[in-house]
Amino acid sequence: MFTEGDPRLGKLLDGIVRLAAGELHSRIEVSPARDELDAVIMGTNLLAEDLQIMYQELEQRVELRTRLLNEAHLEMQKMALTDSLTGLANRAALVSALNDTLTEAERGDLPPAVLLLDLDAFKGINDSLGHAAGDQVLTAVGERIKGSVRDTDTVARLGGDEFAVLMPATTLARAASVGNRILAALDSQVELENDSVQCGASMGLCIGGAGQSAEQLLMEADVAMYASKAGGRNRLKVFEPAMLHARQLRSQLIDDLRTAISESELVLFYQPVVALASGRIEGAEALVRWQHPSRGMVMPDEFIPLAEDAGLISELGGWVLRTAVRQLQDWRAEGRAGDDFSMRINISPTDLQRLEFIEEVRDALSGAGISPELLVLELTEGAIVSGNELDRYSLSSLRKLGVGLEIDDFGTGYSSISYLRKLPVDKVKVDRSLLKDLGTDPAQPDLIAAILQLIRACGLEAVWEGVETAEQARHLASIGCVSAQGYYFGRPVPADEFAAVLEAQRASHHGS
Ligand code: C2E
Ligand code: CA
Ligand code: CA
Repeated sequence: MFTEGDPRLGKLLDGIVRLAAGELHSRIEVSPARDELDAVIMGTNLLAEDLQIMYQELEQRVELRTRLLNEAHLEMQKMALTDSLTGLANRAALVSALNDTLTEAERGDLPPAVLLLDLDAFKGINDSLGHAAGDQVLTAVGERIKGSVRDTDTVARLGGDEFAVLMPATTLARAASVGNRILAALDSQVELENDSVQCGASMGLCIGGAGQSAEQLLMEADVAMYASKAGGRNRLKVFEPAMLHARQLRSQLIDDLRTAISESELVLFYQPVVALASGRIEGAEALVRWQHPSRGMVMPDEFIPLAEDAGLISELGGWVLRTAVRQLQDWRAEGRAGDDFSMRINISPTDLQRLEFIEEVRDALSGAGISPELLVLELTEGAIVSGNELDRYSLSSLRKLGVGLEIDDFGTGYSSISYLRKLPVDKVKVDRSLLKDLGTDPAQPDLIAAILQLIRACGLEAVWEGVETAEQARHLASIGCVSAQGYYFGRPVPADEFAAVLEAQRASHHGS
């Protein structure tokens, strides 16, 4: 038994207070008496032991959970900073790394350089071979870029087919040589399951200047990349301030063009297509011009590519289609054109990608009461040959509609005989470059004869464009060419002038 004032009682109380305060390792001393009080003390110690073990377990569990949570957090951060397809850095990661290197440059390091590249042929690959193939190409490109740079460089995919490389602390010369190494690496074919594709790139390079932000640097690399695209693909361009000016001009021109289409600043000129044997005008090619309020007449080579890039081409193409068909209707109503006169218009490759285009052609024709075979659509070889399912569908639908289809600029591009035979076209317009050397190059007449034979063997008719001299016209007629077009027969002229030419032809016909 214990008595009041037993010192162990005080120790027990102390011990309980310590345990309650969280000192789970503290124990209460047991006396040699081994009486009931000692039993309580031992019981309390056992409780403390249990508590301590439970507490430790809890701590371990919390530790584990915390670690898992941290890992998940890191994984999420990584995901937020990587491109899931290629495993490369993404835009956010690039910008953050770029900010770091800019800060280091401020402390006296060499400046960083940014390379931006955009694949030249990617859209075509994706459209014609499918997204799985497209993904494979993107992954392969990412690997090739990674294989061309140092481990300390950041390789990022910024979305779509756009990649970037950040080289910290470098010089323009080194960055340019890395850029050229990447271009060389991208120059060889990418092997896919059933195909192999070539996928060059346009590349812009920009080196960080004092006080520049990451956004500014990326924007300048982007401007340089666009300049590289414009200057013929597969090359590297270093940013120059003058490029900014060109870009401003360009975006100004795009704005202007948008207005031009809605405010009817566009006009069609017409150039005669003639029958070589008789000189009779058998049709007209509508060629668009832009009467810019301050720049004067802008030629199509300058603004058609712009309209393509800015997504304005279908509006422009629709306008050309309706205007040319209406013009044909007018000339027919005035008796200047008959059933032996057809209208030709140029179709952009993107038009073939729009299913509505077929409807637009049908509507324009039925609205004007023109029978389909009096309209000929000119398509460039490249547009058809690199074409995908949709193109083929559009072509055969147009074919069913009954409009004439003609390959334009034949001889400049892919020129495969098997394609010529497979395509649902009935005419071929031979590019004017083929006539250029007639008269100077002694081999040229043979080449022209061979091309004519080739086209005929495929069951097609040829129209020769770019006839500038009587001698060229005579030569073509002598080898049996049927139709031709060129400055020799008439330059593209406004509608009223063309109407006068038609009128003169009619008068002379009636006179003779
Ligand atoms: P294209 O279809 O090959 O048109 C023929 C171009 O050659 C025209 O230039 C014409 O003026 C020019 N040309 C005609 N005869 C001769 C000649 O004897 N000698 C020389 N050196 N040139 C000749 P233009 O009007 O500047 O058109 C350039 C290109 O712009 C066209 O090439 C065509 O690809 C495109 N284009 C024109 N109008 C349209 C349009 O309405 N829609 C689309 N999508 N493209 C158009
Ligand atoms: Ca043409
Ligand atoms: Ca042409």
